[in-house]
Amino acid sequence: MRRLQGEGFSNLVTRDSSQLDLMNESAVAQFFIEEKPTAVILAAAKVGGIKANNDFPVEFLLDNLRIQNSVICSAYQTGARKLLFLGSSCIYPKLAPQPIPESALLTGPLEPTNEAYAIAKIAGIKLCQAYAREFGAKFISVMPTNLYGPNDNFDLETSHVLAALLRKAHEAKTRNDKKLVVWGTGEPRREFLHVDDLAAACLLLLERYDSPEIINIGWGEDVTIRELAELICELVGFDGELVWDKTKPDGTPRKLLDVTKIHALGWKPTIPLRKGIAQTYEWFLANSPRK
Ligand code: GDP
Repeated sequence: MRRLQGEGFSNLVTRDSSQLDLMNESAVAQFFIEEKPTAVILAAAKVGGIKANNDFPVEFLLDNLRIQNSVICSAYQTGARKLLFLGSSCIYPKLAPQPIPESALLTGPLEPTNEAYAIAKIAGIKLCQAYAREFGAKFISVMPTNLYGPNDNFDLETSHVLAALLRKAHEAKTRNDKKLVVWGTGEPRREFLHVDDLAAACLLLLERYDSPEIINIGWGEDVTIRELAELICELVGFDGELVWDKTKPDGTPRKLLDVTKIHALGWKPTIPLRKGIAQTYEWFLANSPRK
């Protein structure tokens, strides 16, 4: 929304979950009949970090199937000229080649901690491709890497690693703790992209990309969870010890996206991790109810 408004788009139609339950098929159908959007960006989903994904496979599978089925179907029926479906890098096999090319989809078993979410997202990709093949719809699917930035979820049970560690480091500093507990071994590698970079990529794809073939959006380099934790502690100003809770899962060892395809379309990310984390920490300090 920030990006679209910044670019001067008006007539932006939105609903939050208190106004429209996207799992309610008839309410969604009614909304589309009333608004008839020309272009649809489907970013809504049941999302969460490794713990939430692992603990609630029913909700991650069912809620996401319901949301995407209702929205994609209604968008087509009411004449949307373009739809952009946001997938995830977790749709790729656990042991995919690195960096992961788009062609790795459905070539091997998934990572068990987020299998339910991945299966739902793969179904969404296939539904968009089916509308493209059967009816010629310009319904595209993009696969972002791990995202972070303002308005992230900072709840320690359900958030992803970057937001969780930012909050943990801030609270450890505020309490003068000597230690900070990080999940897993610290060895998995993850790639992080600022949401503003993702927004720019989505806008470019809405304007210039019509292929039903999926397309990756990533930073292009990854870091270990240990490196991420150390960088966050440095930026927040916490100089205690990192303690690794090896009872928590590591998840997939690595999921660095191959971004050759989106680079060829003329997009490159602009916000390096250090700068992005510092900016997100500022947002957290200004907006956190617990500051
Ligand atoms: P994933 O990318 O789907 O595995 O999801 P996450 O962002 O939740 O986790 C990424 C990695 O960070 C995993 O190896 C986690 O074990 C690790 N991690 C370390 N500390 C935390 C934490 O406090 N919260 C979360 N969500 N992950 C953590």
